[in-house]
Amino acid sequence: MLVAMTDSAHTPLSCPACRVIDAADGLEDGNLFATIGRSLKHENHVVESLKRAQDRVADGITTFAGSLNFVYIHTIWFGIWILLNVGAIGAALVFDKFPFGLLTMIVSLEAIFLSTFVMVSQNRQAARADIRAELDFETNLRSEIWSVHIGQSLGVDLTHVEEVVRQAIEGSKRQLSEDQGSTS
Ligand SMILES: [Zn+2]
Repeated sequence: MLVAMTDSAHTPLSCPACRVIDAADGLEDGNLFATIGRSLKHENHVVESLKRAQDRVADGITTFAGSLNFVYIHTIWFGIWILLNVGAIGAALVFDKFPFGLLTMIVSLEAIFLSTFVMVSQNRQAARADIRAELDFETNLRSEIWSVHIGQSLGVDLTHVEEVVRQAIEGSKRQLSEDQGSTS
């Protein structure tokens, strides 16, 4: 991508707007950004995995486990199980005596699988957020390059704007670190 850009007639160094973008990282080297040629690793692979049915099942199970229905069902299940097995309805119906070893085993297995499903869902959400961040990055980069070129053709003092941007970023970063220092 970078090679194609520098080989074309519109090289960064012949265009004043591109020169300003180039110089914004402190080094006028003909590369607009060190990151401009970087593309998302295994993006298609990630998207494919997002579509996979088994992962969607994991999402569905996690959603259900995070609902109040899950609590109600378990409350009713445990209630009936315990009532039956303490002999509240009749000694003939007791199949899992106190301290309910079978129930303990079933619930332990359920907990193991549920925690795994939660982690699978978390990984999928993180992958989704990564893709979104990458798209945001590309959109920001595109709009920056466009606005610098538009500003240049309108006769805006680009170095002045770049200086203001630098000061504004520094100021807001300082404010942010001061805020964090006062709250913590
Ligand atoms: Zn340009």
